[in-house]
Amino acid sequence: MSKSLRILVPVKRVIDYAIKPRINKAGTGVEKTGVKFSMNPFDDIAVEEAVRIREKHKKLVENIHAVSIGPLKAQDILRTALAKGADTCSHVDVKEAELEPLAVAKILKEMVAKQNANLVILGKQSIDDDCNNTGQMLAGLLNWPQATFAAKVEIDEANMTARVTREIDGGEETVSAPLPLVVTTDLRLNQPRYATLPNLMKAKKKPLEKLSLSDFSKVDAEPRLKVMKVEEPPTRSAGIKVGSVDELIEKLKEVKAI
Ligand code: AMP
Repeated sequence: MSKSLRILVPVKRVIDYAIKPRINKAGTGVEKTGVKFSMNPFDDIAVEEAVRIREKHKKLVENIHAVSIGPLKAQDILRTALAKGADTCSHVDVKEAELEPLAVAKILKEMVAKQNANLVILGKQSIDDDCNNTGQMLAGLLNWPQATFAAKVEIDEANMTARVTREIDGGEETVSAPLPLVVTTDLRLNQPRYATLPNLMKAKKKPLEKLSLSDFSKVDAEPRLKVMKVEEPPTRSAGIKVGSVDELIEKLKEVKAI
């Protein structure tokens, strides 16, 4: 059997990173009306990495499939993923409800089977819920090795293994694992390309599979957590500027910090 890579890239639609999130009136989450949404930045890096792997290993990569679980509007970011180089994609319509990482991981597990994927590249975390759970849970459910917080990914075609350099506290760690594998992306992995207008036009013709939760009947997507409340961080009082080290020491003594 010839060697091939089938890459699955889960992408989430989140509030644009440049927007300062505001808490909704009910205090139950972030205000979502009238706000710009984009692809989660770490997922943009994941799409870019999949495309770069194909550019480097032209014959090896059979397919790059993007998948997004979210409201209808999630199709916009899937089109962006297609414009950047994904070949095909699936949208799992879950209306406005936000699924917890475990439910997302269970759906992704089924998507892996459907696509016969042997490499999943996810973002290390969604910038809206900051969970940093899904990749790890997916690897656990699949019983696959995981290389999280990737700063460099190298595929060894001959042995069908991956060498991943990981961001760790105060340094880097390089690990090696046989495929199939789950990788999660960190910020320094690459600089994603922009989706050009011609490619966005071409992306409209690429296949988009429409699915809903009922297509994943074995998945228990019931929430296990209840959000009690969401609060703004306490406002910090204004600082002061001091003119010298002596003055700084004086002030610190005043507030009994030393
Ligand atoms: P999280 O565990 O929520 O921080 O998310 C980590 C990664 O899982 C994200 O960067 C995405 O790659 C993937 N992911 C999470 N939620 C979704 C979703 N609803 N649809 C597609 N991918 C998702």
